[in-house]
Amino acid sequence: MAINMLDGLNSDGGTESESALETARRQLTEAAAHINVDDGIIERLKHPTRVVEVAVPLKRDDGTVEVFTGIRAQHDDVRGPYKGGLRYHPGVTAEECIGLSMWMTWKCAVMDLPFGGAKGGIVVNPKDLSTAEKERLTRRFAEEIRDTIGPKRDIPAPDMGTDAQTMAWFMDAYSMQEGETTPGVVTGKPPVIGGSHGREEAPGRSVAIIAREAIRHYDKDIEETTIAVQGFGSVGANAARLLDDWGATVVAVSDVNGAVYDTNGLDTHAIATHDEQPEAVMRHGAPNTLTNEELLELDVDVVIPAAVGNVLTEENANDVRADIIVEGANGPTTFAADAIFEERGIPVIPDILANAGGVTVSYFEWLQDINRRQWSLERVNNELETEMLSAWNDVRQEVEAGDTSWRDAAYIVALNRVGEAKTARGLWP
Ligand code: NAD
Repeated sequence: MAINMLDGLNSDGGTESESALETARRQLTEAAAHINVDDGIIERLKHPTRVVEVAVPLKRDDGTVEVFTGIRAQHDDVRGPYKGGLRYHPGVTAEECIGLSMWMTWKCAVMDLPFGGAKGGIVVNPKDLSTAEKERLTRRFAEEIRDTIGPKRDIPAPDMGTDAQTMAWFMDAYSMQEGETTPGVVTGKPPVIGGSHGREEAPGRSVAIIAREAIRHYDKDIEETTIAVQGFGSVGANAARLLDDWGATVVAVSDVNGAVYDTNGLDTHAIATHDEQPEAVMRHGAPNTLTNEELLELDVDVVIPAAVGNVLTEENANDVRADIIVEGANGPTTFAADAIFEERGIPVIPDILANAGGVTVSYFEWLQDINRRQWSLERVNNELETEMLSAWNDVRQEVEAGDTSWRDAAYIVALNRVGEAKTARGLWP
């Protein structure tokens, strides 16, 4: 049975039939069956340490006052401070935050980062707010959860609906109340106030590194490898361009409108990314265009779904012709599709490993903040490479030793680390 922790935990929240928390608990139980961890520890890990819910009043630009709900779920901190994003989205719920905070615990553990898992946000549609309103809301939220967070306690980061500017306001509000500039309270800040070079590019870079290692592992030559990438945003475009630079032939990329396709390979640097020019992929002159569904079924060596969740499903899993799937997006493969790929012998390298470059460079940012010393981009990229290869090797060894899928192996590595830390520390009192 495959362990798909992220099934249902994509950015849109849970699946229709199962909430993010139910999925997370189900997957924890499945992962636990593979390893020798005390039942009491598994029971503890089904629950968050705490969930904080606060009222966040906002004076709107028209002078009226509206009250929004802010949430911070902290799952586990046995390996270090809680870490995870803050999302501004109308669909944010405490239950979803708990499920996603559990996922952060495993993601940090598989990367062997000294962090635990958290997630939070505000139940609000950020598109309904002016910039000034968003700033006031963020500052008040920072104040309301100030006792819960901190650079040694819980370190938020950008997520859906929040960005580097949001983190800058958050950090400023926290610092003003603490009486000292505290950049390490959040990551994903602009570099001028303690953000890290390379942070934005990091998830795509890690996807490219893991794809490159998977290509090697399956005895392919990157120079003779064809790749299709769904989603030409931050993750997809950075991954596609790096793999292109490293000699792979990127034959297809897409955005929400569809895909461009050239069997001779696309010039990925000439195609505008989502950030550079939203929804411009189809305007790039290429011999062929495809639908997003057709892209996933191309006869390529590697397919990288890097757009949204739940795109590889029971309906299309049997039509996928790629030899390797590397998950760039969070939760692109449903539980049912995972089982089909396992049966068909198509390796799926999980999101929890492949796109973990983001939280890894967040860790580097935190290190830079507490040491008050900025690293060069070259150093960030070199250290990211080292961390990714180390995590890749840990998971690969588990795959080879246990004859498990890549996803199972990643969760086994993560849960073992958390379980061992809990065993060593013991239960208090
Ligand atoms: P983005 O907004 O920069 O880009 C998303 C791209 O996907 C765009 O090109 C968009 O047009 C396309 N797209 C949107 N809906 C689509 C659809 N239904 N079908 C095909 N293409 C579609 O987003 P991003 O930051 O690159 O994130 C992509 C995925 O990676 C998400 O699942 C996100 O949760 C995950 N992720 C992002 C980061 C990060 O830090 N950016 C880190 C880890 C995981």
